[in-house]
Amino acid sequence: MRVTFPHMGNLWISLKAMLTYLGVQVIVPPPCNKQALQAGAKWAPEFACLPLKLNLGNFIQAREMGADTIVMAGGCGPCRFGYYAQVEHVILHDLGYNYQLVVMEPPEKHIGELLQRIKYITGQNSWWQVMQGIRFGFRKACLVDQLEKRAFYLRPREKRSGSTDKALQEALATVDAASNWRELEQAKHQAMQRLDEVKTVQRPVLRVALIGEIYTLLEPFANLELEKRLGEMGVEVDRSIYLSEWINDHLFLGLVRGMRSSKAFSQAAAPYLAHFVGGHGQESVGSAVYYARQGYDGAIHVLPFTCMPEIVAMGILPRVSQGTGLPVMSLIVDEHSGAAGVQTRLEAFVDLLARQKRHKGAFA
Ligand code: SF4
Repeated sequence: MRVTFPHMGNLWISLKAMLTYLGVQVIVPPPCNKQALQAGAKWAPEFACLPLKLNLGNFIQAREMGADTIVMAGGCGPCRFGYYAQVEHVILHDLGYNYQLVVMEPPEKHIGELLQRIKYITGQNSWWQVMQGIRFGFRKACLVDQLEKRAFYLRPREKRSGSTDKALQEALATVDAASNWRELEQAKHQAMQRLDEVKTVQRPVLRVALIGEIYTLLEPFANLELEKRLGEMGVEVDRSIYLSEWINDHLFLGLVRGMRSSKAFSQAAAPYLAHFVGGHGQESVGSAVYYARQGYDGAIHVLPFTCMPEIVAMGILPRVSQGTGLPVMSLIVDEHSGAAGVQTRLEAFVDLLARQKRHKGAFA
């Protein structure tokens, strides 16, 4: 069995670590790229959202590298994600790519099914070993998030343009290379040290929150490298979703103490949207309230074209903006999004935030 999975930012580091730890052969698709998007968009239904198209492209590329089994998350309404694995599987089958499909349903809905699927993938390993593998993957996810957060701080303050990105890539490669607990501890120190080497200058920065749909928030190819672009414009960003927090909330059901939970966002959304609308729609509304309370200068709401939960959130966010005073810009992405258009919109938004901050006398 040669297992592959879709890309979603740096998720691959953690999934690869978990599966390899358990002796499963893993084929990581090439990072999301233009070819993957073109291949996916060619065969996907026109109005499917961007994640489905990129997933398809990942699977087509991974099949050519020898993968024969797909591991994919499942879901339950009201958005379409719950049946995406099956749709992708049928499309791939029609194209002649014969994959085994293993769908991991969320534990709060189907714990028995989830355990069965884990056992199918991990084979002879005992449940104790499986738990160790999951812990190992989770530890890497936490570390990756820590490195990304550090990079968010450094980018707008770096002395030499591009030095943060270079250091981050090297640090992530160090984490990826660690194959046991001892190596991971060493990798942690080396990776943090590498980022500490980035030279900075003290300058005033804007703080902008990135909120919205999980895939487009975590996958830089899908959001046209929003974090990097904003960092280069002198903006320190934070993301409403980090992979380790998502794992803790949805797979560990909040067992790891001391981590931020999306429950806080759902609660904060209450005055504007008091019920679940699928995906992360409710959290998007609540996270805008949360970041307004944290004193952020603005928020960018990222969503794929035709994303149902986020369209609901997008309709409500102007009211949140009015109520809290937090400027919010929505950015819809799909396969037709162009870098130049996104750059222009970002520059205009950042310019507006800077002007507003100067007006308040808080920005030199
Ligand atoms: S959350 Fe949005 S982008 Fe994701 S599957 Fe649902 S509709 Fe598509």
